[in-house]
Amino acid sequence: MPRSCVRPRLNFKYFLAAISLFISLLVISSAHAEQVIVYSARIEQLIKPMFDAFTKDTGIQVKYTTDQEGVLLARLKAEGKNTPADILITTDAGNLWEAARADLLRPVNSEILEKNISPHLRDPQNRWFGLSVRARTLVYNTRNVNIADLSTYEDLASSKWKGRLCLRTSKKVYNQSLVAMMIAEHGEAETEKIVRGWIANLATDPLSDDTRAMEFVAAGRCDVTLVNSYYYGRLMKKAPELPLAIFWPNQNNSGVHVNVSGAGVTKYSKNPQAAIKLLEYLSSEKAQNLFADVNMEYPANPEVKSDLAVASWGDFKQNPMNLAKAGELQAAAIKLMDRAGYR
Ligand code: FE
Repeated sequence: MPRSCVRPRLNFKYFLAAISLFISLLVISSAHAEQVIVYSARIEQLIKPMFDAFTKDTGIQVKYTTDQEGVLLARLKAEGKNTPADILITTDAGNLWEAARADLLRPVNSEILEKNISPHLRDPQNRWFGLSVRARTLVYNTRNVNIADLSTYEDLASSKWKGRLCLRTSKKVYNQSLVAMMIAEHGEAETEKIVRGWIANLATDPLSDDTRAMEFVAAGRCDVTLVNSYYYGRLMKKAPELPLAIFWPNQNNSGVHVNVSGAGVTKYSKNPQAAIKLLEYLSSEKAQNLFADVNMEYPANPEVKSDLAVASWGDFKQNPMNLAKAGELQAAAIKLMDRAGYR
């Protein structure tokens, strides 16, 4: 057989082998590229609709597991480089700050995220981004409180509220973040004075959750409390006859204390490009409405309008201080609340 006939056949064999190797590599890499794995402290019903919409629009699958934030942070730390997670979602900024401090998140450079999310709601180093805003505000009994008496968080320490205040336990991160932001604004000594004033005004021992605190207010066992506004929304949907209303405090000074449910891309994400795509998607107008409205929260994208029922509670000025402070000062806040007798 002439040489010229053998050679092309051999080459053709190599060519086929190369093609099949190329195809299998393509299949493997696209299998990786088309999936994002999320560890979420936000419960399933508050994330699944957005993930489904993302998959529908992009073809990228989202796998998720939900758990308490502490459990997810410990898991990320323990898994280190081997973590399957691409994204961490939490329900407050303090835990995102802690994840960044523990070097579990990577900086993300995304013009879309920087444009869509207000600067005070994201990490100055772009390791986490708020995706929905949770306002911690005053709820009062409309029969027992003269609205002219309401003004600020700080004023709840004044003697006119003696025996009239209910508070959720200091163990909840929402209150720790609020006190941390107060420390950032007033310093420790002044904040401790305020918290001691709150405790002196309590009508009852601190309560287990925001809804319970509002139920006490509605029943007249106290007149005013501090809650995240979406709990007010949920309760009023169930029981619109309750004599409760929202008041936005600190409108002439620091603004309403806000926190976020937010997310970051893990340091050891195997698929950071798709993970960033998902975060960008969650910050977009379409997903922002889903993300916020499903829990009666506020969009973190200032271009997006809130849900109609939420909008009916009125506009308010947010505290513009960067939420990283809530993380930085969380330990100080916990110690301060303990010293002040806030259990
Ligand atoms: Fe909550």
